[in-house]
Amino acid sequence: MIEKKQFYINGKWVDPINKNELEVIDPSNEEVCAVISLGDSEDTNLAVESAKKAFPMWSSTSKEERIKLLENLYEIYKSRWNKMAESISLEMGAPIDWSIEEQSSSGANHIKNFIKTLKNFEFESAFNSESNNHITYEPIGVCALITPWNWPINQITLKVIPALAAGCTMILKPSEIAPLSAIVFAEMIHDAGFPPGVFNLVNGNGDGVGTQLAKHADIDMISFTGSTRAGKLISKNSADTIKRVCLELGGKGGNIVFADSDPDAVKRGIKHVMGNSGQSCNHPTRMLVEKSIYDRAVKEAIEEAENTKVDISSKKGGHIGPVVSKIQYDKIQNLIQSGIDEGANLVAGGLNRPAGLNRGYFVKPTIFSDVNNNMKIAREEIFGPVVSIIPFETEEEAISITNDTDYGLTNYVQTQDKEKAKRVAKHLRSGGVEINGFGVSGGTPFGGFKQSGNGREGGKWGLEEYLEVKAISGWK
Ligand code: NAD
Repeated sequence: MIEKKQFYINGKWVDPINKNELEVIDPSNEEVCAVISLGDSEDTNLAVESAKKAFPMWSSTSKEERIKLLENLYEIYKSRWNKMAESISLEMGAPIDWSIEEQSSSGANHIKNFIKTLKNFEFESAFNSESNNHITYEPIGVCALITPWNWPINQITLKVIPALAAGCTMILKPSEIAPLSAIVFAEMIHDAGFPPGVFNLVNGNGDGVGTQLAKHADIDMISFTGSTRAGKLISKNSADTIKRVCLELGGKGGNIVFADSDPDAVKRGIKHVMGNSGQSCNHPTRMLVEKSIYDRAVKEAIEEAENTKVDISSKKGGHIGPVVSKIQYDKIQNLIQSGIDEGANLVAGGLNRPAGLNRGYFVKPTIFSDVNNNMKIAREEIFGPVVSIIPFETEEEAISITNDTDYGLTNYVQTQDKEKAKRVAKHLRSGGVEINGFGVSGGTPFGGFKQSGNGREGGKWGLEEYLEVKAISGWK
């Protein structure tokens, strides 16, 4: 049993002020795999105080000093890559191979990409050659970083690294459901030599530490990734102190498969949703298929779902793991039931666990065809290995159905007609559009339109989120 009951505050591992423990559950077998502590307002205040005290020192370090420490961190991260992958696999159920290749690698890639961004970023510049104005970019201050469980180290590094690079100090509150990777990461930060108080970690839940951070008068900015529900609460709780609130929230991506798409388009789309057991905000969970290829597409989707193996996280092989928790499992089952009740056509998977898996939060890879975009399964984020297939006839109809959602994170277009792909991409209301299975390169901005959030993470856009802009006139 792993015991990780301390918090990392002011450069030291410290006991919580009051004892309040939480068991971490291994989703592959429903057994307790670790115990952590949940902080309360006294722990939160100590962490904020430490970050506030460190800010004048850290914000005046040079870009070169910060690059040096980030490079140390990158080397340490690479040497503990597998330890990170094992923690993630245990806490949220990602199969170990996937955890090494996708989850753990995301952290290393973000560190590497932000070092590159920092090296190229100009913190000072003239406004233009004629004026007497000078522009400086300055760290916003003390940041609270609140992260989810589905891509734990991806989300942590997308926030902590640019905040460090900008010269901000911070308190990280990772998901209480998947807190182990964050602890491994805090150990790396310590060993990399960042000064005390620059980075602090307090575990806790949303009602406790999360809300305390949102309301705290000494926090200048919150960067949050998680559900739209919690994003709304955080915005309300932050309002009285006018802090900057950056939100990366849910999604309900549309994947428009035109009749002239490449032969792998349908299977690729289904495989994408099944990856990470359907637990990614940017997954293309609504597959829109042009009517002339509809029957073939449904057949291919069924084949791909039936070929998707489900198993425990510690096994090697190309399977998917369980979903993270009993709460998520029940939510997914209820949504599958709602699809059946509302008259969608269940063509693969369905209710209950896959055969042979009697313990653990395992969900059958599931496909609904003949879905109407007004059904609950087309409107709500399911966050499981479930795809809804919706027919369409014209380009305009496909765009209109795709945009008919509260969300706007990533949409997808499959066609071999390049001009059509570009035209459609420009009409889609989302922070990202992926054409023909080409994923985004490192350092690309990521974020949402509408209720998928505000702001962008990654690259110079992700760094600028942690900066204030100052205009100084009469400079010359
Ligand atoms: P969640 O909103 O329940 O929790 C996320 C984090 O917020 C956790 O650390 C939690 O403790 C904290 N939290 C919860 N309520 C809070 C409150 N009132 N105040 C402050 N903090 C609070 O989300 P989850 O279930 O952990 O993650 C799944 C969600 O995250 C999905 O909706 C998914 O789409 C979204 N997500 C979005 C992105 C993105 O970049 N857009 C990336 C990954 C996940």
